[in-house]
Amino acid sequence: MKRIGDWRREPFSQRYKSQTLTIFALATAPGRAAIAVIRVSGPAAGETVKQLTGKDPPAARQAVLRRLQDGRSGESIDQALILWFPAPATVTGEDVAEFHVHGGRAVVHGVLDALASVPGVRPAEPGEFTRRAVLNGKIDLVEAEAVADLVAADTSRQRHQALDQLQGLHSEVYDGWRQRLVDAMARLEAVIDFPDEELPSGLLDDNTAAVTALEEEVRAHLDDGRRGERLREGLSVVILGAPNVGKSSLLNALAGSDAAIVSAEEGTTRDTVEVTMDIAGFAVSLVDTAGLREVPRGVEGEGIRRALTRAETADLTLLVADASRWEKTWPRIATHCGENALVVAGKADLALPPPDIPGLSAKTGEGIDRLIDAMAQHFRRAWQGAGLSPSRARHRAALLQVADALARYRDLEAGDVTLAAEDLRLAATALGRLTGRVDVEDLLDVIFSEFCIGK
Ligand code: GDP
Repeated sequence: MKRIGDWRREPFSQRYKSQTLTIFALATAPGRAAIAVIRVSGPAAGETVKQLTGKDPPAARQAVLRRLQDGRSGESIDQALILWFPAPATVTGEDVAEFHVHGGRAVVHGVLDALASVPGVRPAEPGEFTRRAVLNGKIDLVEAEAVADLVAADTSRQRHQALDQLQGLHSEVYDGWRQRLVDAMARLEAVIDFPDEELPSGLLDDNTAAVTALEEEVRAHLDDGRRGERLREGLSVVILGAPNVGKSSLLNALAGSDAAIVSAEEGTTRDTVEVTMDIAGFAVSLVDTAGLREVPRGVEGEGIRRALTRAETADLTLLVADASRWEKTWPRIATHCGENALVVAGKADLALPPPDIPGLSAKTGEGIDRLIDAMAQHFRRAWQGAGLSPSRARHRAALLQVADALARYRDLEAGDVTLAAEDLRLAATALGRLTGRVDVEDLLDVIFSEFCIGK
């Protein structure tokens, strides 16, 4: 019988494999379609192929056409393409089978039902295929999140961001940092373990320099104005201006839809109206706000307050004044000018805009494409190189813990080497939790057992 300690020493993947059931799920969207793909992963994947086709799995990674049947009754279900991927070179690291069937509900239902009857096989939980890929070391946690992001990506920028992350660009950086941390820990451990030995002079100084450099890199990575997270979540563009300058009409013209209420009456947009759109591959949520005017009381006052709050946190503000009433409408927004704002003169079909201010007309469509280009240019400039930024708050939180632990190390190191070592360990644990790639304790065991050879 195994004691708890034995379990702990066993590599995680082995511990997990001994209890693994085989999972299956419809990999394509539910509903009627030309083709549906059903994926099976686990030790009994080969058995599911045998049960459903009456034959052994086909040659690895080669599509073959076979008749599918219910293993219990022998009843025909479909003619389907079968793909067989033997472990370990598969997406989950386990044996994987794919059934490409005709996408009718009865066919899909029949296959799923037949699969569920195979011993040791059960329906997959949400995300379980990716989860197994992580547990089997195929991808790390950051890459697994990228799989979810790639599936959710609406625009090309979001797709690029997720793909970079899935291909390990972030993980490579984080793994490099962890390696440097482990080296620093090993050096420090030498000082602790061999206090009386002849160790290279300046070992502690070298370590402090290395840790400080690492901390600076982590902080620089974090100091990006949350650009990665904002790119992933979508940017917000807020339209600000006095009442009746044509804000709602502009939003409609930009979005090409009737998402906002267009009305000649002042103060109809009391809350914010939002549409999402794709501008040069950036996912943008365009927000129309209550017109800024000087009666901020009651419901409308609340609308104006919300407009200003949204503008403060927006990635870009479109400041709209009315070309035909410039003197009256421009002063309302003049104070909001800044590097994250674009000024436009609306209703340019009624009057000439002031010099240097791009005019546009929601009515004739003039200047709308130019505004979209200007927005695209702004985003491209502001988001250049943001692909490597942390894409989630979870990453940011873990990296902050790393940087803070490294800062504590710097402060402590002269005073107490043992406490300093603990801070390095905390930093390594935070990084380990971020990628989830390695059980940090296992890693440390290996490193220190190697380091202390002969002790
Ligand atoms: P908001 O209060 O700033 O959101 O303004 P609206 O979009 O509701 O428009 C106010 C009024 O101006 C409506 O009567 C619109 O038809 C009109 N309007 C909006 N844009 C234009 C434009 O480009 N040209 C002209 N001539 N009228 C416009």
